[in-house]
Amino acid sequence: MPHELDIINPATEETVATVPVTSPEEVDAAVRRAAAAQEKWAALAPADRARLLRRFADTVDAHLDSLAHLELLEAGHPLANATWEAGNVRDLLHYAAGGAERLTGSQIPVAGGLDVTFREPLGVVAVIAPWNFPMPIAAWGAAPALAAGNAVLLKPAETTPLTALRLARHALDAGLPEGLFQVLPGEGKVTGAALVDHPGVAKVVFTGSTATGRHIAARCAAQTKRLTLELGGKSPNIVFADADLEAAAAAAPGSFLDNTGQDCCARSRILVQRSVHDRFMELLEPAVQAFTAGDPADPDTRMGPLISAAQRDRVRSYVPEGAPVAIRGEAPEGKGFWYPATVLEGRPGDRAAVEEIFGPVAVVLPFDDEADAVRLANATDYGLSGSLWTRDIGRALRVSRAVAAGNLSVNSHASVRYQTPFGGFKQSGIGRELGPEALTAFTETKNVFINA
Ligand code: NAD
Repeated sequence: MPHELDIINPATEETVATVPVTSPEEVDAAVRRAAAAQEKWAALAPADRARLLRRFADTVDAHLDSLAHLELLEAGHPLANATWEAGNVRDLLHYAAGGAERLTGSQIPVAGGLDVTFREPLGVVAVIAPWNFPMPIAAWGAAPALAAGNAVLLKPAETTPLTALRLARHALDAGLPEGLFQVLPGEGKVTGAALVDHPGVAKVVFTGSTATGRHIAARCAAQTKRLTLELGGKSPNIVFADADLEAAAAAAPGSFLDNTGQDCCARSRILVQRSVHDRFMELLEPAVQAFTAGDPADPDTRMGPLISAAQRDRVRSYVPEGAPVAIRGEAPEGKGFWYPATVLEGRPGDRAAVEEIFGPVAVVLPFDDEADAVRLANATDYGLSGSLWTRDIGRALRVSRAVAAGNLSVNSHASVRYQTPFGGFKQSGIGRELGPEALTAFTETKNVFINA
């Protein structure tokens, strides 16, 4: 086991920091500290927990620029995107703080007395985060868990622990109790596994690949541990002939190139009605070319590098020699894990048309009619998100109901808002994050009968 993680700037390949890893013994000590802090935290009045979480949000807000810069360094995100991500953490902390004050139980009159229902915190929650959106995804788990009265142990991805460590410092500065929100950097198979297997951890929130998610689910099942899984996607972007084609083509690049395609909601399968296929491709090409890749610190940059050389190799494997490339963007040469925006003419059954690529690559598949579009959209083991573009409200409703996915958008590519539930059907996950129910996902329901 390495003792340190080298943190590499993916745009320059320079080492920007080294971070000590957390051993299984240190995980055990962290769980004990968290459990002690959680008891005190849960005993606070909800309004006091809310006040401290708002102060945490204000501290994040005061350091928005430096957090964004850190995300740029460790993940290569363009500065504007990284700033939005830090703002998302702040907003979510405020939203969760409001939820802490609104978390109520119920009273149910029954024969012979009254049933009173409470929402009790779970205890210590482990959040295992990926590298693609290091800050927001950590906060989607941590903020509601804290608001509901739990302690949080966050295991960031190997490549991106810096923003997580900084958030933990801001939490302390804001007055959250020592030990309540700890960040444990390290390898998944060592530090992550020790957390998942620790009997003192009541729930695991995991975001990452479906393969790792299944492994973690099996480990949790062995201890009847609570679990939320946010896994991969292969989301469709369905463009009907009656759509505003200009708008659909203008929005399409962002839907699979934002975050260099390293987005579980990436609309990496573009399904276009055959009658408008050629016109749509004509419109798409300049829009993809305009999605500039380059220095993440440059305000004109829309797309940064991939996270690592290994991720670039993986993406390359989906575009072998002779692949049917329809559109190709430009990417910087030299240092950095760059890969150009790429649109492939899809052939159903091709690896690129069915597997999650997690890079700036989309496939275009033509369809004939509404039924064909729905069939193609559902021809995947995943079910996270998707978009449909049409001017027909009836069709929008029919197709939205027929596509098996947790988060769909009509005439838009919006996927995630902290006010609304987010999560997947099928192999894309179990449970929901965000939205009004996020807090209750971090509670046990307790019913008390009072004999009257
Ligand atoms: P991963 O699923 O292996 O890792 C995600 C997190 O889980 C990391 O923090 C990792 O350290 C941890 N982890 C790994 N093995 C673990 C274990 N046995 N026990 C506990 N924790 C463990 O993802 P990856 O290797 O970083 O990326 C591989 C692929 O996964 C990507 O190419 C992409 O397709 C997919 N992915 C999807 C998402 C998403 O949001 N859906 C995010 C990241 C990666």
